[in-house]
Amino acid sequence: MKPQYEDSSVHHSDDRVLFATGSIYRCTGSEGPSHDPYGWECWTLERKYKGKDITAVLRQGIGLDLSINGEKVQGQSDDTLHILFERATGISVSDMEKAFWKAVAYRRSHCWKCGSKDILDVSGHPGETLFICDVCGTIIDGEFNESAII
Ligand SMILES: [Zn+2]
Repeated sequence: MKPQYEDSSVHHSDDRVLFATGSIYRCTGSEGPSHDPYGWECWTLERKYKGKDITAVLRQGIGLDLSINGEKVQGQSDDTLHILFERATGISVSDMEKAFWKAVAYRRSHCWKCGSKDILDVSGHPGETLFICDVCGTIIDGEFNESAII
């Protein structure tokens, strides 16, 4: 959740949501030379599927990379990687993204501490948004948007 400032040209954000059946972890950032950085997005899905523990990592940078349980899937088109992802995990990439954003929206809709639904979003550090309970002041979530500061 916390942004890391390792280098002025490299920014990261990451977030994880947990489900009864597994977890989805999303990480974004940028890398490359500071005069010509490119953004990347990485999704890690962990779940039990057909009785096996599956960890699938889909990384979209300059190209698309997929690894299943640590093994990189080589030499496939992006469409094929999406199909292989779904075959290995039982969930399509778009459904995984939908489930993730739904969970994030739910988390930001109410305060876990007092149950209030009065949530304010306020600016924190440059590029950072904090979601704060208007009743008890608990910070329930944060978001880091690198495009706001590049
Ligand atoms: Zn509260």
